[in-house]
Amino acid sequence: MGRINKITVHHEGWTAVHFNDRTSTAERLEAIRNSHLQRLSAGDIGYHVVIDRAGRRWAGRDLRSQGAHVRGHNENNAGVMVLGNFNRQKPTRQQYAALQDVLLDLMGRYQVPARGVFTHQELGPTTCPGTTLQSHMMFLRRRGLG
Ligand SMILES: [Zn+2]
Repeated sequence: MGRINKITVHHEGWTAVHFNDRTSTAERLEAIRNSHLQRLSAGDIGYHVVIDRAGRRWAGRDLRSQGAHVRGHNENNAGVMVLGNFNRQKPTRQQYAALQDVLLDLMGRYQVPARGVFTHQELGPTTCPGTTLQSHMMFLRRRGLG
C-alpha cells in the first residue's frame, strides 16, 4: 500500500460481544480472520488494528499492506475495527479511550488530517460501525478528534 492518507472506523457487526478476556478475543479474531480468508481470498484479516472490549489493541494486517475493509476504498486506507455490534450495544469506556488513542496515533504517524478519518458508512452502503459508535465519531469530530 502507498502512503496512508485516510483511516476508516468499523465495528465487527456480528453478534453482540460481552467477553473481554484474551482467550475469547483471540478465538473471535481467528474466526474473523478465517471468514476474511474465505471471502476475500486475501492473505490475512482485512483490518489493520482491532480494539477489544478491554481496550487492548490487536495487530491485524501489517500497516504496510493494503487492507480489505471498504469496498473500492482500500488504497491508502488504514482499517480500525472496534469489537462488538454497535447497533446492539455500546462500546466500553476502554474502547472509546483506546479508539481515540489509535486514531491520534495513526493521524500523527501518517499525517492524516481529521477530514481523512471516516466511518465505514461514510464511504459505502452499510450500517457499520453501528449507531452508537457512529454518534461517538460525530462527537469526536466536533471536538476536532483532539
Ligand atoms: Zn465496516
